Amino acid sequence: MYRRGSAIISFFVSLVFTLQAFGTTFIEFQAKDEARRPTWRGPVTIAVSSSFSDAAPNLVNNSDIAGAIARSVQAWREVSPFEIRLVESTRQDVSPSGNAGDGVSLLTIAPTAANTLFFARSDSSPAKTRVFYSRRNVITEADIVLNPAVQFSTDGTYGTFDLEAVLTHEIGHLLGLRHSFVPGSIMYDSIVQNGAVDRVNTAGSISASDVSELRSLYGDSINSDDCCGEVVGRAPTNLRKGAMVEVWAQDTESGLVKAATTVARGRSFRLAGLGNGSYSLYSQARIGQRLFEVRELGIVEIRDGSRSSLQLESSNGRQIASIVAIGVGGVLADRFISLQAGTQSQIMVSIEQGSQVPAGFVILSPGVWIDAASVLEIDHADGVRTFLMNVVVDEAAAKGNHSVCYSDSAGARSCIAGAVGIR
Ligand SMILES: [Zn+2]
Repeated sequence: MYRRGSAIISFFVSLVFTLQAFGTTFIEFQAKDEARRPTWRGPVTIAVSSSFSDAAPNLVNNSDIAGAIARSVQAWREVSPFEIRLVESTRQDVSPSGNAGDGVSLLTIAPTAANTLFFARSDSSPAKTRVFYSRRNVITEADIVLNPAVQFSTDGTYGTFDLEAVLTHEIGHLLGLRHSFVPGSIMYDSIVQNGAVDRVNTAGSISASDVSELRSLYGDSINSDDCCGEVVGRAPTNLRKGAMVEVWAQDTESGLVKAATTVARGRSFRLAGLGNGSYSLYSQARIGQRLFEVRELGIVEIRDGSRSSLQLESSNGRQIASIVAIGVGGVLADRFISLQAGTQSQIMVSIEQGSQVPAGFVILSPGVWIDAASVLEIDHADGVRTFLMNVVVDEAAAKGNHSVCYSDSAGARSCIAGAVGIR
């Protein structure tokens, strides 16, 4: 599920960044269950374990624990249709797996046997969330456990995980959200440990596609005039065996990634929670690590909760090299970078070895340009081809996540939706 081996040494400062998969027990829902995903009814109460104290062995000293918990909850409160309350608790352990828990949604960092056993011995994911729900798909409890075997901080300490980013991600699972393939989403399936440089290149906060996902679950209860339109469809059965298709919607005017989903061959999909506007739709098939060309599927208009259906291409298309890493400031680490509006930056992009020459790169948004004349291949790391290039971000470029693409000499593209965050 998670691509190991994409950690790459930076060419300026020689650091190894490791990506770690976020763990969750909330991943077994298939596309056929799309209409029946578990959700909360009414307010959510999260009990914060007393294990979150300055004495917690895997929290760096003097961490702003209370602040990180409060901010991660507040971030979801601002976009949720129901209340999210915090209470204190002396409880320590995740509820054992089974039909029912103890009814308390616990957030814990306690290094107890039960919590340690929740992670397999080799599992270095920073946290896991166990969700309990009824036969009627009502979530009754969700316990978040921070891995007792890894270190957390709130100040960017090298080699630790950012407590607030991890909590925000796990609270997303607690609310019923699944993983996203969009690197700029808080629900992206992996997270980078803090490096020696800074924390700039982790998404760290809730994006437009996360909000759409939440709205797709709770849309009925959201009191908003323009909530929630949707685009629905089905992945053709004549795609190649094992094909999964990434489908995403970008705001046509700004290029911002607003919704994304992954669908298996023959299954139905739904991009929901869309506000009023015009959306450009894209799809891209993959079979394991093999990626196929991006398809532009046209534009749909969403008005007052309207529903559009979308026809996906009935073939995978041509196989094409994929972007495997992207970086800025000399650090090539993950699949996400963050740039400031009104600035020019030099970025690095690595694509799979064996891809054609010449290669072009493009960002699918107005107001963000890659200077084609600046693209320069460098000798950087084995197994990939790495390019430097200048990116100009207009002062008026929309804040949020934009897509970056590689194009081969025939003009076919592979993209990472939402890999470039503009602040
Ligand atoms: Zn996760």
